Amino acid sequence: MKLEFLPFALPYLDSAEIEEVVASLKSGWITTGPKCRQFEDKFAAYIGVKHAVAVNSATAGLHLALDAVGLKAGEVALTVPITFAATAEVIRYFDADIDLIDVLNSDATMDPALLKQYLSDRCELKDGVCYRKADGKRVRAVLPVHFAGLVCDMDPINELAAKYNLAVIEDAAHSFTAWYKGRQVGRLSPLTVFSFYATKTITTGEGGMIVTDDDEKAERMRIMRLHGISKDAWKRYTAEGSWYYEVIEPGFKYNLTDIAASMGIHQLDKAEWMRDVRQHYADIYTAAFKDVVELQTPCHGSSEYIHAWHLYTLRIRPEKLAISRAEFIEKLKDAGNGTSVHFIPLHFHPYYRDRYGYSRGDFPVSEEFYDREISLPIYPKMTELDVRRVIEAVLELVEKHRK
Ligand SMILES: *Cc1c(COP(=O)(O)O)cnc(C)c1O
Repeated sequence: MKLEFLPFALPYLDSAEIEEVVASLKSGWITTGPKCRQFEDKFAAYIGVKHAVAVNSATAGLHLALDAVGLKAGEVALTVPITFAATAEVIRYFDADIDLIDVLNSDATMDPALLKQYLSDRCELKDGVCYRKADGKRVRAVLPVHFAGLVCDMDPINELAAKYNLAVIEDAAHSFTAWYKGRQVGRLSPLTVFSFYATKTITTGEGGMIVTDDDEKAERMRIMRLHGISKDAWKRYTAEGSWYYEVIEPGFKYNLTDIAASMGIHQLDKAEWMRDVRQHYADIYTAAFKDVVELQTPCHGSSEYIHAWHLYTLRIRPEKLAISRAEFIEKLKDAGNGTSVHFIPLHFHPYYRDRYGYSRGDFPVSEEFYDREISLPIYPKMTELDVRRVIEAVLELVEKHRK
């Protein structure tokens, strides 16, 4: 019997989201309005922060956050090679430079020891400002990525950032509902950005949220997300609004629609349940793979260090297998299983490779991680039976092709 293809990812949406979207459509408020405000308030309360600023993507959120910390042309911001294009491209929007810090072998998050080494060897502090020694450019910000849903070791990263006067912007696109040392992501540093893209831990189709306790930055981001207009323009069309507005900066068009927020309001109610399902599936995967020497299972976190399980990142040991990672993926696909790879390191992409003269060997831990990684499907819409079938396909391949 040929099984139906199991997609790598699918959203979990039910009648609650559908009815709320329909209600928005019927209400006439289809762009930013009351549902957006409701989603922001509910999100801020859930995380326990003062401000949640809804935007139409995490990419937009990262851009606004970098604007809020004052990144300028000719400055430098830091991130990791194992991330999505978005984390780096927003730095280039400012004509600022990127320096990459390699990741930990254990979980592919930023290695705090390498960040420390970068700052102490390649930078200097002058009057409390961090400059890159090579060209005197100011190093303004660091963007750690909570890869797969496991939080970076934020305590040392925050300490280094404080010492070198760097702004911290957490790319939490994978990690809504994750916790670090008993604190929820969103409360670990001044600015955190979540993604609600279709495959992420909760979704609004497209969307994102920036959270902060900083009144001034929140105000700046609210203004910049809608054309740099000095107050929320959507009020212009309500009884309390007026026709008058002022543009105080050339802002962006990054506001979230009420249609999208309608989904978010109900996704939020499901977020912990969905995480628990993913956790359960991760446990099943790891129990099946942990004693297979050709495979390496991912870190699981703990009760203090809760994994959001956006991705289940299996690593193969190519030296023990007669087939390559690419062939492994191809054969899983032939057996009807969708998988993916996270991520092609930034410095392998032509733009970054050519602009910064990178080559293989520059970030060896990221490169080895990439060479061996296969992301398996993990989402609440799939069943336990689906998980078993992926396991069976993986084990069969290992069995057949072990050296
Ligand atoms: C998905 C993703 C983003 C971008 O999210 P969008 O909401 O699609 O803009 C940023 N960073 C990482 C690590 C991601 O995986």
